[in-house]
Amino acid sequence: MKTLIAMMKHETNTFSPIVTDWERFKEWGAHLGDEIPEIYKNTRMPIAAYMKIAKKLGSEIITPLAAEAMPSGKVTKDTFEYMSNLIIDSVKNVDCILLDLHGAMVAEHLFDGEGELLYRIRSLKPNIPIAVTCDLHCNLTQKMIDNSTALIGYKTYPHTDMYEVAEKVGLIVTNFINGKCKPIMQWKKTKILSQTLKQGTSDKPMSELIKIVTNAEKEDNILAATVFGGFPMADIPDAGSSCVVVTNNDSLKGKKICNLITEKAWELKEDFIYKHTPLEEVVTKAKNIDDGPIILLDHADNCGSGANQDVMRVIQEIIKQELNDVIVAAVWDPEAVKQMQKNGIGSYIELYLGGKTDMPSINLKGKPLKVKGTVKTLTNGKWVVNGPMYTGVKVNMGHTAVLDTGKVQIVIVSNHHEPWDIGVFTSVGIQPQFHKYILLKSRIHYRAGFEKIPKHTLTLDGEGVTTSDNNVLNFKNINRPIYPLDNI
Ligand SMILES: [Zn+2]
Repeated sequence: MKTLIAMMKHETNTFSPIVTDWERFKEWGAHLGDEIPEIYKNTRMPIAAYMKIAKKLGSEIITPLAAEAMPSGKVTKDTFEYMSNLIIDSVKNVDCILLDLHGAMVAEHLFDGEGELLYRIRSLKPNIPIAVTCDLHCNLTQKMIDNSTALIGYKTYPHTDMYEVAEKVGLIVTNFINGKCKPIMQWKKTKILSQTLKQGTSDKPMSELIKIVTNAEKEDNILAATVFGGFPMADIPDAGSSCVVVTNNDSLKGKKICNLITEKAWELKEDFIYKHTPLEEVVTKAKNIDDGPIILLDHADNCGSGANQDVMRVIQEIIKQELNDVIVAAVWDPEAVKQMQKNGIGSYIELYLGGKTDMPSINLKGKPLKVKGTVKTLTNGKWVVNGPMYTGVKVNMGHTAVLDTGKVQIVIVSNHHEPWDIGVFTSVGIQPQFHKYILLKSRIHYRAGFEKIPKHTLTLDGEGVTTSDNNVLNFKNINRPIYPLDNI
């Protein structure tokens, strides 16, 4: 027996100005062939769980591709076709397929990257068992359902259960192969374009839906139940929240659970939408808090959802209101890092920091911020995740520098990297828990590594292509009506 294991993963923000080509995949992780098992064996990634399952089946493992890029704009046609062909070319001689996908991949020439990949596989091998894990931010489609045997998603945001979810879907497919079950999927959309800032799974309203799917999985004949928050910064027909239930040949029960989830989501729909507060007001509020640490979230410029991570609006306000003892992770600016490397550690430098990227989709030009300070640290930006998300994975932030203005220490990176693990600071010699303000270009994933540190957490409404202000985003392709874009 032969099992194909592959990862092809991208959360596409169609408003992002960042091109997603093969180079972009290589920045975070793009591996081919036999090197893959060695790279992922000690991680908590789905591939590691899949390898364990394939071994249990006594199966030979084929690994054509393991590629993930940080969220960004549409995947180029060439890159999509290259990755898809690597998988398709290996499909012919295998008996089982275990895939780690995202569910929100958009390419230049198609809206539904995952649906298309699965369709191509199914067309070649109509009866092959296909297991799929998807991210909680998957924008689920009929094409994905029609062309897989069992598809399930993470129940956590931050995503700390990737390994367990892969184990679960792998087991369903293994039981199917051994004739112990007959997986049938039911799914339903909600007509809600829920915002990711309101999808934290330990917060209401998302926790209410997670409760329903967790309880459903305790019932007879329910093999898995998933609620997808969906990814709202994707102007594609199928963007939005949804759910999928995998039953053991019990479609009636699957339908019933889907209805329960979508009805509850609709009842809570207003809570899935973020409410805006002026930036200046929140920074003043932060200034007047005596005890720390205080986490400040620059959520509109979160590269973990496709932002360029160099919008300086929030940092400008923090400097203007003279907050003291602030650490920032991170600003993307390879040019600034080069300049700091040239000047060397200990040198005093004046920089036009960030603001190198224009954002035409939201009519915003990049605006650098003039800052002065000391070059405190220079590193190669490489470290290994020790926290609960992407555990064991090697991170490469590219050449990295720390600028110390006296009141603010800014980590500056050359590769986009969302700060979800404290390694973003500890790798450059900063212990975050000993600083009053921790400013992060993140929104929910930071909780994975930082959750226990802050006494207070505030969200700062800055600017960028991961804004939670729908008035800024111009949707043309999404199926209407959908809440809150339409008053339904
Ligand atoms: Zn996600």
